[in-house]
Amino acid sequence: MDVASGSVGARVRLVLDEIRSAALRVGRAPEAIRLIAVSKNVPVERLREAVDGGIRHVGENRLQEALPKIEALDRDDVIWHFIGRLQRRKVKSVVGRFETIHSVDSLALAEEIGRRAQEAGLRQRILLEVNLGGEASKGGFESGALLAALPALNGLLSLDIRGLMTIPPPSTLAEDARPYFRRLRELAQMLTAQGCANINMQELSMGMSHDYQVAVEEGATWVRVGTAIFGARHD
Ligand SMILES: *Cc1c(COP(=O)(O)O)cnc(C)c1O
Repeated sequence: MDVASGSVGARVRLVLDEIRSAALRVGRAPEAIRLIAVSKNVPVERLREAVDGGIRHVGENRLQEALPKIEALDRDDVIWHFIGRLQRRKVKSVVGRFETIHSVDSLALAEEIGRRAQEAGLRQRILLEVNLGGEASKGGFESGALLAALPALNGLLSLDIRGLMTIPPPSTLAEDARPYFRRLRELAQMLTAQGCANINMQELSMGMSHDYQVAVEEGATWVRVGTAIFGARHD
């Protein structure tokens, strides 16, 4: 796909078309997949073009970039997602401001979010990030550690745990990501079978610009797409 040409609005339509085709290829309802436009390093004016092109879900991975952008965009109809590594001391500023935190990568972080959500009198929606590639450089629960943490997570009543998120090891070939996406789906099924009353595993946040079509084929309910919408970042 040529991401260097075309307007942001045209690229949003293209990505939505590709999501639809991928869903139909495997017999899924296209409405079951929602697109998050990842606007890190993207100026607010370009983000506004995406919103004018129909984007309603926006993802940011750094709090200090996201907060001024939320204010500058000033759109009540846009829903914000936190998708980056989250330090515990920043939890207080994230809770309640972002609809879903996709990147909860440890029990300690989940507990801190639960504590801050309780203080704020709300339930914070989160996803649990899983490190399936065993990469030391990346955050996320190992599958076994996640299974072990499940009872403790189930007791955090100020959390609304909706599912799993993963970022596969980097590869230029989209197909290389398929086994990881499949494993995330299977892990969600296995965790569901544990029967934790307060943990729901219906959401799978997986797939980025180069592999979101494969992710949709493997069951993604959220795809997080930056470059294919906004063009190459200089980061
Ligand atoms: C940057 C980022 C994305 C989007 O990546 P692209 O390859 O630009 O689509 C998705 N998820 C996370 C967690 C990110 O940090």
